[in-house]
Amino acid sequence: MSVFALIPAAGSGTRFAGGAPKQYAMLAGKPMLWHAVKAVCVPPVEAVFVVLAADDRSFAERDWSAFAGKVEPLYCGGESRRDSVFNGLVAAMADMSHDDWVLVHDAARPCLPLRDLQNLLSECSEDQIGGLLALPVSDTVKRAAKDEAGAQRVAGTEDRAQLWLAQTPQMFRAGLLAQALRQASGRVTDEAQAIEGLGLKPRLVPGSRENLKVTWPDDLALAEAILARRA
Ligand code: C5P
Repeated sequence: MSVFALIPAAGSGTRFAGGAPKQYAMLAGKPMLWHAVKAVCVPPVEAVFVVLAADDRSFAERDWSAFAGKVEPLYCGGESRRDSVFNGLVAAMADMSHDDWVLVHDAARPCLPLRDLQNLLSECSEDQIGGLLALPVSDTVKRAAKDEAGAQRVAGTEDRAQLWLAQTPQMFRAGLLAQALRQASGRVTDEAQAIEGLGLKPRLVPGSRENLKVTWPDDLALAEAILARRA
């Protein structure tokens, strides 16, 4: 049984400098996507499939030589994250068997620590279903509802003891993930949600705050500081 990684990088988020898609925003001298690839391109991962928009011109212009031929671009991104992962998985199935593990990782999480990846691999490789890195919620969480004037008001307080924030990588067997995503609607926002749709319960593996998702331009400075501290 083999382990592969798949990075959906077909988003068009352009809130970053230069108007380039977020995955190509520069971070410590390299595109953010390069750091996300580096974080998962470690044994036992055999190859990293990167799912790109069909009209992506940036990938081919960047230098991927550090990864010794283990990075394979797939120009089959879709409308939603779910579509990109599903299309990429179908294309990558040519090189994988149904029982192989796939680690789906966001291009927007360039600071995944090696120890988190190792914890995920060791906790999930014997699991029947698979699982994901996640963080127990430490803030108090409010549910909001608009009042008659349109102002947001607190409609309730959630029990945070039961709440976790889902991160990536998310680790499932290729065949099961393809089946789950085929049945899922475009509204699922991660792979675990698609697996849940089959009535299965993915395992939660504690991750760390370092594995932040770069969403806003301000997050770039934080990610840069994390990478600089490691260097
Ligand atoms: O937009 P967001 O940050 O939630 O995207 C999460 C990941 O999904 C990113 O790596 C992004 O490039 C990818 N994505 C994709 N195809 C889409 C939308 C998002 O590959 N249509």
